[in-house]
Parts: sequence; C-alpha cells; structure tokens
Amino acid sequence: MKDTTKHQGLRKQLAKLLEDKGITDKKVLEAIKNIPRHLFLDSSFEDFAYQDKAFPIAAGQTISQPHTVAFQTQLLQVKKEDKILEIGTGSGYQTAVLVAMGAKVYSVERQSELFKITAALLPKLGIRPKHLSFGDGYKGLPNHAPFDSIIVTAGAPIVPKALMAQLKIGGRLIIPLGKEQQVMTMLIRKNETQFEKHECGDFKFVPLLENRI
Ligand code: SAH
Repeated sequence: MKDTTKHQGLRKQLAKLLEDKGITDKKVLEAIKNIPRHLFLDSSFEDFAYQDKAFPIAAGQTISQPHTVAFQTQLLQVKKEDKILEIGTGSGYQTAVLVAMGAKVYSVERQSELFKITAALLPKLGIRPKHLSFGDGYKGLPNHAPFDSIIVTAGAPIVPKALMAQLKIGGRLIIPLGKEQQVMTMLIRKNETQFEKHECGDFKFVPLLENRI
C-alpha cells in the first residue's frame, strides 16, 4: 500500500490531461491529484493506473476511466457536506473522489465479492464514506433519503423511479442511460413531480443489473 512521489507526479499529469479534456472544476482536479488510484487496482495494472483508461476489477466489473469519473463528478457540482448517493461502488475510486471533496457518501454495490473487498480497502486508505451498503441500487437507500444528489456508475436501461423519489428538490441525478452505449443524462428536480433533463454526451459502462439479490 505505497504511494510514492512517482505516483503523485503521475497523478498531477493525469489531472492536467483531464483539464485539457475539458474538466474545469478545480475541486474535482484536486481530488484526482489526491486519490491514489493505483491502490484501487490489481497490482498487475499498477503501472497503468494513471492512464486515462478503465480497467477490470473483481467480479467482471470495471473501474471507470478517470475522465468519466471527473466528468460525472463535475456534473454533480459537489459542495462540502452534500449528502450523495452512489449506485455501483465497484472499486471505491469514485466514492473516494467524492469523500475527498467533503461529501457525505452513501454507496450501494450488488456484487458481494466487490462489496467486501472495497469495504475493507477504504478504511485502510483512511477514506470514510458515511455508509456502504450491499444491495440493489435500483431501490436506492430509502432509509437514508433524501439526497442532495445521486450518481449512478453503471449503464441503466431506465431511470429507476426509486432514485427519482429519493432526490431533494433542486438536486441532481446523474445517470448513464442506454443498453450497449449510454448517454450521460442529468435530471434536475424542479418540484415534487417535474425534472429537467440534460443530455451530456456518449459513454460506455458495464450494465446496471436487476434482480440478483
Ligand atoms: N464507481 C465504480 C464503477 C464500477 S462499475 C468505480 O469507480 O470503480 C459499476 C458497478 O456497478 C459495478 O461494481 C457493478 O457491480 C455495480 N452494479 C451493477 N448493477 C448494480 C445494481 N443494481 N446495484 C448496485 N450496484 C450495481
């Protein structure tokens, strides 16, 4: 579990690359510089951890590409103390970025193997989300709702109704929508019944899966 000056240097270069690719939120770039992504990957990928690429993790899942993490996080407009729901904890890297920005993060993962690995890893790195949950993200976390914002990190065929219901008025739900390929979609809750929809470009994610738990 080592973080060296070489790793830190590579992270600075990655943050610069993301800035060149259009990420402007300084707090997001700062978090990318601070979180040791190589420690969220299998050690055989360590040398590539600061390339802007997705990599395989346990249970046939992936750690999202840094640009995707930065892009989704920027759309969230994170403020300190925001209460954020993440669906798809995966490696915990996105969780760590949000925690580094001062958010209170609640995250749900449906693969038990990944849930266990990540729940053990984060405290070792001194990263403390408010709550990690093993369960089906389609249902959200009704006992902890409402949330200032919600981020889904797997490709969803539809917007789960439960997630819309658990968003505060004025809050943002960021969700990649589609089967093979996804359109990054942002829903801003205007009132009890209305949401404003923005489409923010094409991405590729592993699928948000239903009904396994
Ligand atoms: N945020 C992660 C991305 C992981 S990929 C990271 O930075 O590493 C997407 C994750 O969503 C996978 O771990 C997958 O197991 C999980 N997932 C898929 N369907 C889900 C569901 N219905 N509920 C919760 N998590 C789900």
